[in-house]
Amino acid sequence: MLQKIDHLGIAVKSLDEAVAHYENVMGVPCEKKEVIESQKVRTAFFAVGDTHIELLEPTSDDSPIAKFLEKNGEGLHHVAYYTDHLEEQLKQAEEAGCRLINREPVPGAGGKRIAFLHPKSTYGVLTEFCTKDE
Ligand code: ZN
Repeated sequence: MLQKIDHLGIAVKSLDEAVAHYENVMGVPCEKKEVIESQKVRTAFFAVGDTHIELLEPTSDDSPIAKFLEKNGEGLHHVAYYTDHLEEQLKQAEEAGCRLINREPVPGAGGKRIAFLHPKSTYGVLTEFCTKDE
């Protein structure tokens, strides 16, 4: 079952510039920065209430974020929902006819396991399910 919106992912060209923006303009301190090898991104997280903003900068030209920036420029990249049962959530989505990008969970930021649904199946919004195993 979905529990909450865990975070909003925003694609940026320069993580350092975007981090400075969030710290100076929005007044929220950066919680952590992390490189996610499996997604070829460098991320920075900001807590806003009980949800987060995740800034994403590509670490290579073949990163999905590099392709996104090329096509769309900077901006909202994905919405991530926290679920207590990731495999079940994926199975339910697939059985309901949704196209999945990840049929199996992959490692995400903060030790979470994540999987993406295809934006063509989710009204144009790349959708992430994430969970943290106890
Ligand atoms: Zn995310």
